This record gives sequence, structure tokens and C-alpha cells, in this order.
Amino acid sequence: MPVKILLDENEIPKKWYNIQADMPNLPGPSYNPMTKEPVKPEDLAPIFAKELIKQEVSTERYISIPEEIREILTLWRPSPLYRAKRLEKLLKTPAKIYYKYEGVSPAGSHKLNTAVAQAYYNKQDGIKRIATETGAGQWGSSLAFATRHFDMECTVYMVKGSYEQKPYRKMMMHTWGAQCYPSPTNMTNSGRAMLERDPDTSGSLGIAISEAVEDAATHDDTNYALGSVLNHVCLHQSIIGLETKKQLSMVEETADVVIGCAGGGSNFAGIAFPFVKDKIDKKNPDVEIIAAEPTACPTLTKGLYAYDYGDVAGLTPIMQMYTLGHDFIPPSIHSGGLRYHGMSPLVSRLHADDLIKSVAFHQNEVFKAAVAFAETEGIIPAPESAHAIKAVFDVAEECRKKGEEKTIVFNLSGHAHFDMTAYEAYFEGNLPDYEYPAELIAASLKKLPQL
Ligand SMILES: *Cc1c(COP(=O)(O)O)cnc(C)c1O
Repeated sequence: MPVKILLDENEIPKKWYNIQADMPNLPGPSYNPMTKEPVKPEDLAPIFAKELIKQEVSTERYISIPEEIREILTLWRPSPLYRAKRLEKLLKTPAKIYYKYEGVSPAGSHKLNTAVAQAYYNKQDGIKRIATETGAGQWGSSLAFATRHFDMECTVYMVKGSYEQKPYRKMMMHTWGAQCYPSPTNMTNSGRAMLERDPDTSGSLGIAISEAVEDAATHDDTNYALGSVLNHVCLHQSIIGLETKKQLSMVEETADVVIGCAGGGSNFAGIAFPFVKDKIDKKNPDVEIIAAEPTACPTLTKGLYAYDYGDVAGLTPIMQMYTLGHDFIPPSIHSGGLRYHGMSPLVSRLHADDLIKSVAFHQNEVFKAAVAFAETEGIIPAPESAHAIKAVFDVAEECRKKGEEKTIVFNLSGHAHFDMTAYEAYFEGNLPDYEYPAELIAASLKKLPQL
């Protein structure tokens, strides 16, 4: 049995899978934050490329991947699927554990899969610059690399706390030619308003999104790009699950459990949606699909399925999704990529319809699993991905107790090479376990927009 299951370059999928074609129920329409009317394509045109707006609402099952995009993807795709034999041994589990490794991309995570596609479609529309936000820096560096390939400029609003904690991510963005500013800045109205309310704020993803959207909306040659949450992002990430299914079939395996971590939901969508299709189609009706998140930002496990803004200032469309309230500022945990108040509307709908499940974990148990993984498999997982690993540990342990030989597949969304301060904090015993107080969630949820 091989440890690495590899595909040839020409086996990179030629089409993305669009789950909107197969969902029993689609999310409700998004609403314009100003008019409170359903969003029309022309509302999105000032900040998004035409093709991306089309993809957002498409119900076509498969959408062709342009050759120019596939060609850039060959720099690191197809990504490997590994059999985690050493980990299985450590856990003394009869389960078989496979992981898809997205850390092989130049930026170190899955985010480049959509960054390349979004840069391509914006270039097609004659856009000169893309503005975006970044939390931990993974998305900003991915978009910086992608825009470089299409000779576009890139402006990144980076959550101030991470900007200060993670100088190397900022340097990566500079290396790939992007401008990166600590958010909130005094360059936008939303940034200035936030600084007035709290000059010492460490920022949040919600505030940084407001700044980037405002920048794009107020400049004709500039568009906005989001690294997660939206339907077209989940579409571009489906390449992960499509490759994984092919790789599993090469070793004659069928997944019993599929696991991913969830911040805005995109890497989870990427690994999970092609398997959700098999569940819906009754080809693999019993496959269990699990999203793992932090207890400090428990969107799926403790949030409300409602309508809310995607950002703090209320500039984005109002979307039907699980939310902790748009002004919810999660504590500064080390999984920056999982600190988002909302969740992909597609992932949310599947969760509301019981096609997927969710679990939440504390930081210390997550890092404990991450270190055990690094010791056995070698790769040091991103703190975000480590949430998926903790979920795998729990399923594998259950299999050990029940003597079940399940096949578990998870997405290792990225490596931790720029997050080693998080490991340092863990080793020094300085990671607080944070359960977000229910009263504060309830207070934030009182401020949901009325439709
Ligand atoms: C951004 C990020 C995440 C979380 O974002 P999703 O959209 O939920 O995938 C997870 N893992 C890594 C490595 C990331 O960079």
C-alpha cells in the first residue's frame, strides 16, 4: 500500500463541481444592505468580475476551468493524498486515515486555488488592482502571488493583531509585490470610524472586509476579492475533493468519514462537497461529513441560522448563514483563519439540512493533536488545520473502542511555517482555552439586520 497517492499533472480536474446543482434546498437569496431588496447582479458589478458574479448563482453542475488557470495550478497541483500509517499506529486504531495536503502550494495553503481563479477573471474584465483583507495572512499572500501572475496590483488590509504577530506573512506579500496595511487603517471611512470607537483595537476580519470593500467600491479600476464564504470560492475549492475522490478510487477506498476545519467554510467545502454529492445521490448515503471549529468562535455549533452581514460595517450583502452576529469580535486565538463570525451560506444550508455535522474544540486539545501529528507524519499543521486533526483523533478513538475499520479522510489545509509562535505559546503553557460567553453571543445576535 502506497503512502503517497499521486495523480499526473494532466489529471488536474478540467471542471469545478458546483453543489448548487444538487442541494435539496438552496440558501435563501442575499439582500442588498442599502435597499434590503434581493441582490441583483448589477449590485455586485462595482466590486466583482462578471464571471464570478455568474458563478455565484449558477446551478450548472460542472463549470469548465480555463486552461490559463489550470496551467498555473500545475505549479503545485495535483496535491498529494497521504495514508497516515504512522498516525494510525500511534492511535492504535483499526481505522484507515488519509489526508489531502494543500500545504504544497507556494503560499502554503488551499487559498491559492481560488486566488488564481479570481485574479484571472478580474484580469479578463480589465481590472488593474484588487483590494482584499487578510486575517492570519494566508489569503493576502495567496492573492499577492496570484495577482503577480496577471500583472495586477494588490492591496491587502491585514488584521492588525496578525500584522504585528506575523511579520513573515507580510514579507511574503511584499515579495510578491503587494501592499499590506494593518487594519483598521485611517485610509477608509470604516477604518477611521473603528479607530475612533477603539484606538487600540487589534482589528478583526469583519473590519478589514469593510475597508477592502470600501476601497474597491470607491475606485473604478479596483475590484474586491474574498478568500472564503462566497459560493464561487467554494466552487474553486471543489478541486480538492474531486482530486481526493480520484485518489481514493486508485487505492479502492470509499470514504466513511470526511473532515475539514471551518472558518468561512471554503477548504471544508472543497474537500466535502464532492462527497456530499455522493450522500445526496445515495451513492454513499452513510458517509459522515464533519466540520471542525474553535470553541472561541463557534459559528456552526453555537451560532444562529439567520440573515446577517458579512462584515462589521454592514457594507456586504446580507446572507442567510450561521452567524455569531456581525459585530462579534472573537478573542485573539492562534487560528486566525477560523476567527470569522459567519459561515459560507452553502455550508450553512447543508448543516441546517443535516447533511453535514459540526464539532468545536479548545486550543490546547487542538495543539496536542497537532504535535502528535507532526511527530508521526512530519508535517507541522497550520493551527486551523489542526482542528480537523483533533476531530480525526476523536473519530479514530471511537473506531478503536468499537473495533470499526472506517476510512477517514481529512483536509490538511496548510502548514504552520509562519505560525510557529502559536506552537511556542502552546509549549510554554500560554494558550488560554476560551469558551465564548453565551451572553456575548446573544448580545451580538440582537443586532441582526431586519429584513
Ligand atoms: C484560511 C484558512 C482556513 C480557514 O478558511 P476556510 O475558508 O474555512 O477554509 C483554514 N486553514 C488554513 C490553512 C487557512 O489558511
